[in-house]
Amino acid sequence: CLGNLQRFKTLNAFINSVRDERALLEGVREADARRELGKTKSAIDGRLIAIKDNICTLDYPTTCASGILKGFQSPFDATVVKNLQNSGAVIVGKTNLDEFGMGSHSNQSRFGVVKHIRAGLNGETLSPGGSSGGSAVAVASGQCHAALGTDTGGSVRLPASYCGIVGFKPSYGLVSRWGVVAYANSLDTVGVLAGDSKTAKDLFDAIDGFDPQDPTSVPVSTRSRIADLRARRRRKAPLRIGVPAEYNVKELSPVIRQTWLESLQHLQSLGHEIYPISLPTTQLALSAYYVLAPAEASSNLARYDGVRYGASGDANDAVGGVLYAETRGKGFGDEVKRRILLGAYSLSAEAMDNYFIQAQRIRRLVQQDFNSVFSLPNALLLTSYDDSISGEAESARSSVKVDVLLCPTAPTLPPTLESLNGNSPLDAYVNDVFTVPASLAGLPAISQPVGFSGKGSNTCGVDSVGMQIIAQYGDDELVFDVARMIE
Ligand code: GLN
Repeated sequence: CLGNLQRFKTLNAFINSVRDERALLEGVREADARRELGKTKSAIDGRLIAIKDNICTLDYPTTCASGILKGFQSPFDATVVKNLQNSGAVIVGKTNLDEFGMGSHSNQSRFGVVKHIRAGLNGETLSPGGSSGGSAVAVASGQCHAALGTDTGGSVRLPASYCGIVGFKPSYGLVSRWGVVAYANSLDTVGVLAGDSKTAKDLFDAIDGFDPQDPTSVPVSTRSRIADLRARRRRKAPLRIGVPAEYNVKELSPVIRQTWLESLQHLQSLGHEIYPISLPTTQLALSAYYVLAPAEASSNLARYDGVRYGASGDANDAVGGVLYAETRGKGFGDEVKRRILLGAYSLSAEAMDNYFIQAQRIRRLVQQDFNSVFSLPNALLLTSYDDSISGEAESARSSVKVDVLLCPTAPTLPPTLESLNGNSPLDAYVNDVFTVPASLAGLPAISQPVGFSGKGSNTCGVDSVGMQIIAQYGDDELVFDVARMIE
């Protein structure tokens, strides 16, 4: 990994790495010694793990790839970082991202764009996806064993898909957000990027757990209710796999449609059953997401006022709100400013009913769509086990019940960075069309790379696409199981 950190420096995957090489090697040696004594702490003991730079660490600055956090040093480690360290992992550095997680190509960073490990067919620079593009490239180029990212609307799954690795977003609330810088807190999750689903699961096991410091952390009682529901699932095999009709859009690149079909055929050949299903609200999910996420962002980012954190404008100008404007004007990048303005507008008295409230309604409909197709009841809707009966009645709205959904992670292969120049912001938002529904519903989802060769029109230079597996709330293990089947 250390060799690759040097070798692939120009990909710009890290903002800060290997602050103290001796301490790092010491950590690895200690894990080796434990292994020899048969006292290994976990499957990631002694492994080098990279952390997206919107997750707080004591040993490295936390920048969120923003100018506004210049000079900021977190006084504590995020719970997920502590969890990893308790499992023996060694933190190798902080990865580049779209500022505060807002973007889809890792080209909105104060620290420069992240480059895909592969070049396009004509030598162009490809988008690694975003916003956790630094983490994805760090994994894909062997600069770390695995990495943490954050996924608010697809920021782990999209770069995993573009970079040919596994990206897992857990059910909302299973993994602590304490010390994770808020973008849109009702959607933010910490996810995992790794070369294969087994490694991704190893990392998830290390960070999955109740954290009293995170008020949205799922309590132990709900976790056991989920376990109970899963244990009582009647049918184990064959699995019922749903294919959402709404994801078969005309913009879907032919090679992705073909790989989707072959993945389904493969699962069928393993004895599983395929069912077409419908999630009618899917078409509205993207618009709802791009109202809700900026609204929450405009509120969460109000704290960067030039007084409490990081960068500050010239104190001589600190009269009549000028310090605030100075600091934010210089500290934030264009995309972050755009989101703050959008969010502040949709939350304003005149626009609230037409935008924010409507988007919340759509979010609820998206959740109901999913609940109506999954055979497992949603544990968050139940207050007692007996409620699972009415939960089943609710889900009886749809005649076919499935265990998981299989669909592409993104509608296209990675675009070239050059082709993005001059695009409208909306063009970037469209990449999230298949990932935001699971985010709005808080469901677990994984992007698993599936290889292709010579099929359809590959104009790009990559040789795999991400297939997304989505399951009911709390059914995180099942998405790993199905990912393994198409690995
Ligand atoms: N691309 C999406 C956005 O810009 C998703 C970001 C994320 O998941 N952090 O909001």
